[in-house]
Amino acid sequence: MWKYPKKRLWQCLVLKIKGRWISMSMGLYIHIPFCLKKCHYCDFLSFSLSNKKILYQYVYYINKEVKLWYKTADEKKIDTLYIGGGTPSLLPPHLLRKIMSVLSQHFSLDKNFEFTIEANPGTLTYDSLKGYVGEGVNRISLGVQSFDAAVLKKMGRTHGEKEVEESVVLSRKAGIRNLGFDLIYGLPEQTLSQWENTLKKALEMEPEHVSVYGLSLENQSLWALKKKKGELFLPDQDTLADMYFLSREILLAHGYEHYEISNFAKPGFRCRHNLKYWRLEPYIGIGLGATSYIGKCRINNFSSYDDYYKSLEKGELPFETVEKLSLDQEMAEFMFLGLRTAEGVDEGEFFEKFEADMYQVYGKEIKFLLEQGILWKRNGRIMLNPCYYPVANEVFLRFI
Ligand code: SF4
Repeated sequence: MWKYPKKRLWQCLVLKIKGRWISMSMGLYIHIPFCLKKCHYCDFLSFSLSNKKILYQYVYYINKEVKLWYKTADEKKIDTLYIGGGTPSLLPPHLLRKIMSVLSQHFSLDKNFEFTIEANPGTLTYDSLKGYVGEGVNRISLGVQSFDAAVLKKMGRTHGEKEVEESVVLSRKAGIRNLGFDLIYGLPEQTLSQWENTLKKALEMEPEHVSVYGLSLENQSLWALKKKKGELFLPDQDTLADMYFLSREILLAHGYEHYEISNFAKPGFRCRHNLKYWRLEPYIGIGLGATSYIGKCRINNFSSYDDYYKSLEKGELPFETVEKLSLDQEMAEFMFLGLRTAEGVDEGEFFEKFEADMYQVYGKEIKFLLEQGILWKRNGRIMLNPCYYPVANEVFLRFI
């Protein structure tokens, strides 16, 4: 990855003008990096919110960034908006209104756009939810993680089962018809039956969407450090696989579609925003540390407040790095992101996007994986056999 020089960025955006996706509506992500307190396993870009004034300042800069993107991006149509974090539900509705007012003045928001806000149980009230719905929010992604009180405490979460129940009731009352739960398995000392219990409790609350993530400990989280010292006892690989397949079994039996390795949805409730990532479609990321994919470039915003704010003060987009993907990289990403989804990769779409035959570019790899039963082929598409979902990353290495 190379450091961002202005001229190269311009070349990327010129490429975008020539690119086929120009008429496509984009996705927009806004990062809100504040939480009540840091969870013990978390290494996301998020910080404890010490002072509410910081939120006002942050929203001011978000709006500056929106205006700069307006000047830079040719495509102004947005059909999915995702506010993630951190804990975006710490944002009072009047601050969300400030963002939406600038956004709608500069971008054209599709009338059927999907508008998700991430929320943590215990941070939502009926008034805040009504306020969000008033701004167009139609999907809530709730960070439930577990229904085991002892485990939640160990994780450093600030809520329990009661707060989840309240959030669900209040969301429904405020008019939310599309509610997603995030759950984590593979937690320290977690057993298969404890995980089953979490899944069952989640299903009792009838969310339209469920994401199940295996615990992943990277970098500097408190738990990652504990693990290094041998003080954290995690389930073994076999138990993790059992937990994963148990989730699949239970969720399929309850009418959910397993549409991406970690994601399940009731028919008609797949997350349209996240599908853009897996289909390698363009999106803009706004906010501290946010990532964009536009004009065949992967762009990362500064992740330090100082650099982020200074850059915007100078009237520049706050890019720390801009990586122009080579054709090989782009094709490889299209393959392994597409293979994360149940729909897989379509031969015709590959050809339209790259003017190349997928079976010529990856003939050897695809042939081998089909022969091994790791990939399936149906109606011009190839897809990953779900038995191999837990080891998908190893399969994807073949395309890199
Ligand atoms: S609420 Fe989410 S983003 Fe915030 S510290 Fe916990 S895991 Fe990290």
